[in-house]
Amino acid sequence: MSRKSVSYMGIPIEYTLTRKPVKNINIRINEHGEIMVSAGRRVPSGYINDFVESRAEWIIRNLAAIERYNETKPDSGVYTGKKVYFLGQLCVIDVEEGEGERVLIDGNVISIYTKKADDHEAVKKMYLKWLYTEAEKVFSLRMEEIYSIISGEGVPRAALDIRNMKSVWGTCNIEKCKITLNLQLIKADVKCIDQVILHEYMHFKVRNHGADFYKLIDKYMSDWREYKKDLEEKYKDGI
Ligand SMILES: [Zn+2]
Repeated sequence: MSRKSVSYMGIPIEYTLTRKPVKNINIRINEHGEIMVSAGRRVPSGYINDFVESRAEWIIRNLAAIERYNETKPDSGVYTGKKVYFLGQLCVIDVEEGEGERVLIDGNVISIYTKKADDHEAVKKMYLKWLYTEAEKVFSLRMEEIYSIISGEGVPRAALDIRNMKSVWGTCNIEKCKITLNLQLIKADVKCIDQVILHEYMHFKVRNHGADFYKLIDKYMSDWREYKKDLEEKYKDGI
């Protein structure tokens, strides 16, 4: 892959060129507004530049449409420079092409090493899988911690289930003795995670949301409302 640039009526058009065994020159604009061009190995670069330039009006029209679309839609892509939350911290994604396939966090940088950096779907899948693995570790620990604090209430130890959900942070199944936590919680501060676990655990004692229920919550976490508010307002990154 190499970065190229042409100019159309004074407007610079930057594109990424990939040499592939293809017959024609192909131009594609991805959802981030990156112009991806593929061409055979023998096609001279001057010829490719001319071709891109001849398609300039189409490119500019499409870029404008993508920009309009992205303005109204939360950005759900995973790519270099994307800001995401992890355990309450604002981090930045760095996608790097290489041999291995792994995800690492170092300070505020989450590095995704992949063989195909331009396969946005695969990169996102890798990232979500990593989030899930991290969530399993963190949520299990927090479940234990909260249980040790409230075990005097006579509630049973619940099993943990993790799901990527749209509308709720957590649910509990009293019959199956199970608490389901939203994968999205891994983006939030530990206190917010604890607040959801405490809430679900207390339903094993009081099923409804009456005064008795909140009295129990207050007993173990007096400032839970603050964390609930944080959960509703912060830590949204569109993924
Ligand atoms: Zn509830």
